[in-house]
Amino acid sequence: MFSNKEEFKSMFLQKLEMMYGKTFNDSTKRDQYHTLGNMVREYISSNWISTNESNRAENNKQVYYLSIEFLLGRLLGQNLLNLGIREVVEEGLNELGIELRQIEEAESDAGLGNGGLGRLAACFLDSLASLNLPGHGLGIRYKHGLFDQKIVDGYQVELPEQWLRHGNVWEVRKPDQAVEVSFWGKVEFLQKENHYVFRHVDAEVITAVPYDMPVIGYKTKTVNTLRLWNAEPSPHYHSYDVLKYKRETEAVSEFLYPDDTHDEGKILRLKQQYFLVSSSLQSIVNSYRKRNGSLADFHKRVAIHVNDTHPVLAIPELMRILLDEEGMGWDEAWEITTQTISYTNHTTLSEALEKWPVHIFKPLLPRIYLIVEEINERFCRELWEKYPGDWQRIEHMAIIAHDVVKMAHLAIVGSHSVNGVAKIHSEILKQREMKLYFEVFPQKFNNKTNGITHRRWLLKANPELTSLVSEVIGIEWIKKPEQLIELKRQAYDPSLKEKFSVIKKHRKEILAQKVFEQSGIKIDGDSIFDVQVKRLHAYKRQLLNVLHIMYLYNRLKEDSTFTIHPRTFIFGAKASPGYYYAKKIIKLINSVADKVNQDPQISKVLKVVFVENYRVSLAELIFPATDVSEQISTASKEASGTGNMKFMMNGALTIGTLDGANIEIMEAIGIENMFTFGLKADEVLNYYENGGYNSTEYYHHDGRIRTVVNQLTNGFFPETADEFEPIADSLIVQNDQYFVLRDFASYVESQEHVNRAYLDQTKWIEKAIINIAHSGYFSSDRTIQEYADQIWGIEPIGVKI
Ligand SMILES: *Cc1c(COP(=O)(O)O)cnc(C)c1O
Repeated sequence: MFSNKEEFKSMFLQKLEMMYGKTFNDSTKRDQYHTLGNMVREYISSNWISTNESNRAENNKQVYYLSIEFLLGRLLGQNLLNLGIREVVEEGLNELGIELRQIEEAESDAGLGNGGLGRLAACFLDSLASLNLPGHGLGIRYKHGLFDQKIVDGYQVELPEQWLRHGNVWEVRKPDQAVEVSFWGKVEFLQKENHYVFRHVDAEVITAVPYDMPVIGYKTKTVNTLRLWNAEPSPHYHSYDVLKYKRETEAVSEFLYPDDTHDEGKILRLKQQYFLVSSSLQSIVNSYRKRNGSLADFHKRVAIHVNDTHPVLAIPELMRILLDEEGMGWDEAWEITTQTISYTNHTTLSEALEKWPVHIFKPLLPRIYLIVEEINERFCRELWEKYPGDWQRIEHMAIIAHDVVKMAHLAIVGSHSVNGVAKIHSEILKQREMKLYFEVFPQKFNNKTNGITHRRWLLKANPELTSLVSEVIGIEWIKKPEQLIELKRQAYDPSLKEKFSVIKKHRKEILAQKVFEQSGIKIDGDSIFDVQVKRLHAYKRQLLNVLHIMYLYNRLKEDSTFTIHPRTFIFGAKASPGYYYAKKIIKLINSVADKVNQDPQISKVLKVVFVENYRVSLAELIFPATDVSEQISTASKEASGTGNMKFMMNGALTIGTLDGANIEIMEAIGIENMFTFGLKADEVLNYYENGGYNSTEYYHHDGRIRTVVNQLTNGFFPETADEFEPIADSLIVQNDQYFVLRDFASYVESQEHVNRAYLDQTKWIEKAIINIAHSGYFSSDRTIQEYADQIWGIEPIGVKI
């Protein structure tokens, strides 16, 4: 390929002319992007082949990470960085008079996920490849990723996302490896000697065509694979209504469901889940059979991980293959299946727990349903032996009960490992949500605290801070992020602090520029950038943040002696299109923004910005520019959070509740380097169990609360009085399920600490550096190493070139 910038330049120009039949001067940014993308793909193709050949030759254990979401973002910049050719390319392009950044912006985000769960899957792929681990992703090639968000008159408007409109340079279609997935129809069984043989007949068959994307490790030769499945009509299936069949087939991989931590219960979603699982299992088994023949030792060479319950049908699907295709007996098939599958739980929110009505499940997946029924019967029989007569417990624990299939129950029973995503979350699973299962299977339960890839969230997003860190502690931390801890000794060095401060300011100016382009709002780089970016959800409590801003507005208006350091509150969040309340909160944020920004006095010290269309590429601009990270969920509700880690790694200080991974962040950095407030998880859970919370008491006894809650409906905003009534009702009439008013005073006080602390810049920056120093533990490299050692039992590969 190319080994210096001169070679790069000439190859780039040649390739551009070959691909587009035009000269460089006539080319568009998109032409240049596609040219560069294709060059990178060619650059890695031999390593990609070698990785696959190595895996075949070594016949080593492989892990397959099944996830209904992969929130990848843009790939060009990251791939160049991981290949170690970013600088050569950047310099070469500069000599041609173009900025790499501009070319990168021609790439659409691969937004095949909603939020944390999907982004976790993407970070894990990067860590697997960078640690030379044989691990691959399997997902769906949605034609439309998460919707594009526009804000019109303060309201969210959703537009279909179109990431494939101009093609996808990273994918390779593999039609020869297509498989068929069956729905509907019925099951026939015949007795053969001493057992039954099952056949799924009269099924509607669709074709799953794999599109493979390379996953490039950081400065290694490993190139793993992300396989995304596309749903297409099968040439072998004869339908009476061809158009209807085509339409319904293509619908399976058309849209990502835009619900975050919420179960939709729609038949198309179940179809998507089985489509992912069946095509993935067939493909894994096909490749295993080529290497090993019989499936008797399948679990010794294959680990399959299910990211939340969405791919949990992998359990009955693997059973189906072992029983019906391989002809195994139940017990042997069950042993192999449970030893192969492991499961991560992502939430304890009851509205997120997947339950499929039998009347939907059974007709759509008749053979799979029979297997789930058999799993359930055998499990209930075991429970009966362990707890004779305790029918109530068995009813609670059953996989199928009251005509619904409980996916989390199937996941626990059919896997060998069940993990939560932060210590507190894993404890809540064991002691509360999954207590009855913990009693039966204590050895299955474990914790794997989430992480983020520092290669995207520090190296790529914040090259200036990356260089500074390397200047101070050398470059070894890049391969071993825990070595960031060495920064701690330098936290008090004035020259480091000065340089950090210059970088932070620079990054704030970059974000300010972006905000101005997007919204026309001018924000001040000397103000505190206070940021809450994450999905919009009641439990994440964007409302608490907004009510605090309203309180600041009121206080500044009425009390001329009240002064604060200027603050810019930045929000970014998509609301699920059907989540009425979340959309109301977006409107409220925008109404408060108008009120604050249009007030000539107040806007000198306060600004409020809602950034449109929050997604990975925007996130990369936001984290490096942040001073204050808002992690203010109702304690016990946020399983882990990963945004908290990205902020910390970029030297923002956290204001947060003791929830999810905030607790482990606090334990790492020390409570003096964070602003904590509010109810603890056990206090919240205690209120839920025993009652005793009355939100109206807080309304009546705290004038600040009374004022801001009244302002929602008393004409303070130009909107009609009923615009925000649902929000006021949630707080007062519905007794404030998420304890916003309960935590209000504590939050205000904590925000006062933030304001005071920021005034002492020296100490503030020391705290920021201590945050960065401890962020290495929250690299997904640590997380993935734990999964590899403790759950999957996989070893690094030696890629031979
Ligand atoms: C990290 C990330 C999330 C998750 O944020 P949380 O604060 O943990 O909910 C969501 N969306 C995007 C684009 C992210 O990068």
